[in-house]
Amino acid sequence: MEEKTTTCVGCSNACELMVGMEKGTLISVNGNSCPRGEAYAFEKMVSMSGRIHTKPRIKDCPERKLKVMTETDVPKEKFKSILLRLRALEVQTPIEIGDVVCENIAGTGVNVIAVEKA
Ligand code: SF4
Repeated sequence: MEEKTTTCVGCSNACELMVGMEKGTLISVNGNSCPRGEAYAFEKMVSMSGRIHTKPRIKDCPERKLKVMTETDVPKEKFKSILLRLRALEVQTPIEIGDVVCENIAGTGVNVIAVEKA
């Protein structure tokens, strides 16, 4: 069995997943804190790209987070750098659905947009 690691981008916890693969088939997933991590691992191990959904902090309101996503799919190899950038981001309010919260994330040419108001 081949072991691979990846970072779940299902939420801002960014769980490090250990994924067991055999002949292109997913055998096991460890390190996830919720079932979404297994679904994420399955999807990402067979796909080369995808959208990132996460929740960066809101500036001056540390207990609140804002749902955001990449406008389009981004390459799998950029997931970790995108997530690290978004974890460091503090979104300035007010913000409307569809507003750009980060342009050209990690040099991908893709913007990150809000999917809720704050
Ligand atoms: S496994 Fe669950 S808790 Fe961990 S990053 Fe993914 S969605 Fe979040």
